[in-house]
Amino acid sequence: MELHIAFDDADSPLGQCTTYITYLVAREILSKRLATFLDYPHLIRLNPNIPFKTRGNAATALHLQTTPHNAQKIVELAAETLRENAEHHGKTSPALAVLKGKPTPQLRILYSRALRELVPRAYLEQLLHTGRLGPVNVLPTPHNRGLVGALAALGAYPLKDYTYELLAYRDPRDKTPRKIPATLLKQLDRRYRPLLFATYDYAENRPLAVPHGPDPVLLGLRSLDPRILEEIASHLAHTLPDPKMIIYKTNQATDAHLTTTKTIAQLHPYDSARVKGTIAKPPQTLPRGHVKLTLTDHTGTLQVMVYKETGRLNRLAKLLAPGDTVEVAGGLQPRHGLTLNAEQILLWRPAPLHIRIPPRCPRCGHTMKSAGRGKGYKCPKCGYKDPNAKPTIKTVPRPLDPGLYTQSPRAYRHLTRPPEIRGLTPLPILVEKWIYPPPDT
Ligand SMILES: [Zn+2]
Repeated sequence: MELHIAFDDADSPLGQCTTYITYLVAREILSKRLATFLDYPHLIRLNPNIPFKTRGNAATALHLQTTPHNAQKIVELAAETLRENAEHHGKTSPALAVLKGKPTPQLRILYSRALRELVPRAYLEQLLHTGRLGPVNVLPTPHNRGLVGALAALGAYPLKDYTYELLAYRDPRDKTPRKIPATLLKQLDRRYRPLLFATYDYAENRPLAVPHGPDPVLLGLRSLDPRILEEIASHLAHTLPDPKMIIYKTNQATDAHLTTTKTIAQLHPYDSARVKGTIAKPPQTLPRGHVKLTLTDHTGTLQVMVYKETGRLNRLAKLLAPGDTVEVAGGLQPRHGLTLNAEQILLWRPAPLHIRIPPRCPRCGHTMKSAGRGKGYKCPKCGYKDPNAKPTIKTVPRPLDPGLYTQSPRAYRHLTRPPEIRGLTPLPILVEKWIYPPPDT
């Protein structure tokens, strides 16, 4: 039978903790030979634009083939690992969702909504109550927090668009700064890019693959080719003092949250969406360098913020002009009505720029000046006036090419697709060594 189990840690302040618990459970399943894995463990990111308190940092899932007898053992093992973790950290345990059989269409819809919207709790409870999600069991958590993430992670399987991430762990009690040399990351980047990506930010001279929080993740390397991660893992296995590593299949770096196009009238708070429209006013640069745009479509007007931190996107925003046709993708915040925080701007058509060239004086050849609205032109040198003189309208090229503009690496979300991997596809291979230490030791 198919068995899918998923975890979400909406309550945990420890960020990546869920991936570590999932790692522990996966290792036990392999060591005890309780199941075969249908695929890599999955790491699922959901809508990054909903408020922190109700957001799952990371949901994870295991996709297994097993017997009914072992399925029971696996569920007990997962629940026990969660309890132990909760005792160690003094925190509420993550949510656990279990599905016996294949994910149902309702679960897929839930995943799709949880990626792009704020899923109302009442909707979720109704789904659970009426049994429409299929043969799903959930481990109750306070206020059902984290349940959306765990259930959505079940519905994400099988992922259509994905990448891979190799996570290396340290002792979860270790809260010291991580000692991963920048030279190692630069070496890996130069050797494997673009199939290995989001490793090092050269503009900011800062590693992207090393987290800063108190979580147990030592290093996270992202790739489209799991064989590269397997190769790096086998190298790290010889150099790390206590190598604990796992390769996840993930919806990270796929822009999965930014695939729905909506009109301005269709937008709701906390949506992640794409909005196509026209720039209505000259961009306004605020004192701290953020740029405010006004976007209109046939249904309304929307304020768009392009924050300074988005780097190259912020610079593009300053160059936009009224009449430009753009498609802005990002998250909707309930501020001044609704504000769209831009993550990408697709410039469809820059409006032609018209400049007015004043006529020359027919008497002395000097450039004339406007005599006021509707009053024609006068010459500042000889005083000649012509109430019927008109300027020449000249169309000049804009310093902008149509195309997709994205954020600088420092503003990347987990789901952000870096431009260097656009157009590339992941390799659908299940490598042999996706977990360290190998289960038979
Ligand atoms: Zn003149």
